[in-house]
Amino acid sequence: MSADHPDCMFCKIARGDIPAHKVYEDEEILAFHDIHPWAPVHFLMVPKAHVDSLAQVDASHAPLLGKMLALAPQLALQEGCRPYPEGGHRVVINTGREGGQEVHHLHIHVMGGPRPWLKG
Ligand code: AMP
Ligand code: ZN
Repeated sequence: MSADHPDCMFCKIARGDIPAHKVYEDEEILAFHDIHPWAPVHFLMVPKAHVDSLAQVDASHAPLLGKMLALAPQLALQEGCRPYPEGGHRVVINTGREGGQEVHHLHIHVMGGPRPWLKG
């Protein structure tokens, strides 16, 4: 899998063209801090291969998305979220304009930490 959209912000991060505070990386997934965090813990998980949004996902993406979802709670703990049930975290995938999506490379927001949060 490769990041192949030259003008896409998250492809640029996946390629290493734009710096990011990485929290996890493997051959197909990258996780990094959100540049404008809403919560004490706020990172994004992206597939390295460009997909515009959750709306373009099909069954071929299911193993990758499953891997990302299974990884989210582990990374949330690693980044400082307290354990479930007292702690926990929120997982959000904004999809399309009315879904609040601003960057059109599929990404999973993972947010947590003590409240109040800036948003959400
Ligand atoms: P969304 O509205 O779901 O598309 O969220 C896009 C998120 O990407 C926002 O929370 C932004 O703060 C975040 N973001 C945009 N550019 C960067 C960047 N260069 N590094 C890290 N996060 C970014
Ligand atoms: Zn991209």
